[in-house]
Amino acid sequence: MEFDLIVRGGTVVTADATFAADVAVQDGKIAAVLPHSPIPDLKSKAVLDASGCYVLPGAIDAHVHLHMPTSVGYTADDWETGTRAAALGGTTCIVDFVETEPGESLIDALHKRLEEARAAVIDFGLHMTVQPDEHVIAGVPRRVSERRIREMRAAYEAGCATFKLYMAYPGFQIGDGDLLRALRTVAELNALACIHAENGDVIEVLRRSVQDQPELAIHHARTRPPVSEREAVSRAVVCAELSGARVLIFHLGCEAAARVVAEAKAAGNQRVFGETCPHYLALTEDYLARADGRLWVCAPPLRPQADQEAMWHMLASRALDIVSTDHCPFTKAQKDAGKTDFRAAPGGVPGIETRLGLMYECGVRQGRLTLNDWVRVCCTRPAELHALPHKGRIAVGCDADLVVFDPTIRKSLTADKLHSALDWSAYSDMTCAGWPRDVIARGELIVRDQKWVGRPGRGRFLQRAF
Ligand SMILES: [Zn+2]
Repeated sequence: MEFDLIVRGGTVVTADATFAADVAVQDGKIAAVLPHSPIPDLKSKAVLDASGCYVLPGAIDAHVHLHMPTSVGYTADDWETGTRAAALGGTTCIVDFVETEPGESLIDALHKRLEEARAAVIDFGLHMTVQPDEHVIAGVPRRVSERRIREMRAAYEAGCATFKLYMAYPGFQIGDGDLLRALRTVAELNALACIHAENGDVIEVLRRSVQDQPELAIHHARTRPPVSEREAVSRAVVCAELSGARVLIFHLGCEAAARVVAEAKAAGNQRVFGETCPHYLALTEDYLARADGRLWVCAPPLRPQADQEAMWHMLASRALDIVSTDHCPFTKAQKDAGKTDFRAAPGGVPGIETRLGLMYECGVRQGRLTLNDWVRVCCTRPAELHALPHKGRIAVGCDADLVVFDPTIRKSLTADKLHSALDWSAYSDMTCAGWPRDVIARGELIVRDQKWVGRPGRGRFLQRAF
């Protein structure tokens, strides 16, 4: 038998083990994982030398916002630039979102989104967002209609196995009753709800009450205090219990809120999961105190150093499950909307390319995570939680999505060294020791020596089901 490709001589790292092995690829799948053989007795059309490198499953970023319409225009990365940047950072699969326009059905919105996503160069899934669509008072929709709840089944059957629900953000926020109704349907479908948990009503009042020096971005953190996050996470966990739905709390950034998830798990609740993001692990609210602090405005906000350390501990102890980026890139000009008033700054920070490298640098190299923890939180656990059974593992029969990670590469994270369409980097004062050198996706070499060599539009929509 002749394989298509052998990744030879590397150290394979999985969520459970680290061992020397060659990985053989056939027809886009992993065909064999074998101990190094001194004699090249395995026949293969191509060989990739991975000696001195780690060989990992392709990383999965289950929370990104490419080409998303906002008040300041679309987010800066489209499906092509965003997925290419992801690949260059070792990510071979993303999960983005479908959002609805007024009057649009979930399925129509899905089909529109799939058209936009044709430019994707890596495989992707889509979370379906359930937004208010019913007007109670003229103007902003406030309620989720019965029709919308019924449409969730069709969305699930079309491959959106995960539903995004917002407890904050005007236009997206749903009330507790609607949250419970949506979660009941999530439970019926055996789907997963992904929840933005902040107390939106309280936050709106706090934000409106800022009068002095509204140009200071630090107000953003002060008006979204940990208690407003903790309270909403508790409420989400209660609604999950009442409905029997499985819920993943998105972007936990502070100890108080993450602790709620940790305590639910410790009490035996196996339906509650937690996600955090690189910016909560590598940055603190000091960035918001800078004159250009609006660049780091995101929700929930960056927190003090003590929270950061707590998040690392909870990640290592499995109280938190995964690290996703919430990549939501806005250019400096777009962020300037908030120059004189923090409330007008679009919320989001970039990260789609830097996650795997940063988690190695700040996690593994700085002694907070083991190699296996690193792979678990960036690759394997995201695949499990988001219904991607062929991804996130190095095992026979899985998609041949592989990263050859070279610990000798030094990579500075300035914008000119990254491949997003952005004109700034959230991590420009950081350098990573270790970076993805080569990336293979479904058996195709798409990144070689840190250069993009893949085909355009090669990404596929992954219809997911639990
Ligand atoms: Zn997000």
